[in-house]
Amino acid sequence: MRMLPLLLMFAAALGSQASFAQESQPTAKQPSALAGTDSPEALREHVPVLPAVRAKYWKIDPAVGYGMKDFGNGVYALSDNGWQSAFLVTDAGVIVFDAPASYGKHIPEAVAKVTNKPIKMLVYSHIHKDHIGGSVAFKNIPGLQVIALDTVSDFLKEMNDPNRLIPTVTFNSAKTIKLGGKTVELTRHNYHSNEGDLFIYVPEAKFLMAVDSVTSGYVPFQDFDLSTNFHQYLKMFDEILAYKFDNFIGGHLTDTGTPKDVEVTKEYTNDVYQTVKRIHNGLNERAFDAEIAKTIGPDNEFLIFKALLDKVTRDSVAELEPRWINRLAGVDVWLPSHVRAALIYVRWDDKK
Ligand SMILES: [Zn+2]
Repeated sequence: MRMLPLLLMFAAALGSQASFAQESQPTAKQPSALAGTDSPEALREHVPVLPAVRAKYWKIDPAVGYGMKDFGNGVYALSDNGWQSAFLVTDAGVIVFDAPASYGKHIPEAVAKVTNKPIKMLVYSHIHKDHIGGSVAFKNIPGLQVIALDTVSDFLKEMNDPNRLIPTVTFNSAKTIKLGGKTVELTRHNYHSNEGDLFIYVPEAKFLMAVDSVTSGYVPFQDFDLSTNFHQYLKMFDEILAYKFDNFIGGHLTDTGTPKDVEVTKEYTNDVYQTVKRIHNGLNERAFDAEIAKTIGPDNEFLIFKALLDKVTRDSVAELEPRWINRLAGVDVWLPSHVRAALIYVRWDDKK
């Protein structure tokens, strides 16, 4: 009996030695992308925006609410460092591309700063209200044509949202506009929104706009920019790069882009996809499920399956984060969602 306290003390000493040894090991840093957002400590585990990206923020006068850049040959880009749009000045009037909810009401005054030609047309990139919910400010422009895909128009008629003007000119797959000596080529793509997306191309200005595709300097927004079709999203990069352009607008954040930005995002997206595919397809699911079932039993199939999806996500994030964290901003914010989007595609749509 007298031995017991001594033994306990010995065990405690061993234990504290073991935990000291553990603490002094360099522990692998948890990826920032797996930190939460629900406490100040968790938020501080995320990284600041890359300095190279921050250096390119547009200077926005808060009294005006937007900034403007002249891309040449009549094309002007607008941005409030959150959303982006553009317009084209021709000898016969102005064509506006999107009217974001945030600063759309200022677009007529922005146009008036560079030309006295009237606004003749408003083109919608897709249905989302953050990009066209400012169109109500164009309501009283006489003779305005509102141009969109037929499927976009059908959706907007059904929605009947007073902030999104109903299109007056629609088409199904492609349309070329000629106005005042300038050309605009509109082409249907399917990388983002259920009702279709437009590429907007002005060949004379080597300008391309593909909204909610590439966010220059950053990884794409959540779930590969909320894409409802990752298969089409994967093809989108080559579809963009098939155009000759110097300036590119992806619709969001703090800078416009070039073909280089599209190339980098293509590389990132393919890396996420291929990494998730390799890790998912390399996992021995039977053995993994059996291991989980040792703890919770075999009957909770939802939980066993969630454990598997979570493992592929964690392992993919841990591998991908170091490769990208210093190349694109926002890796720590959206990488897990990108991995999930790729995982859904790999597991349910893709071949082995
Ligand atoms: Zn959108």
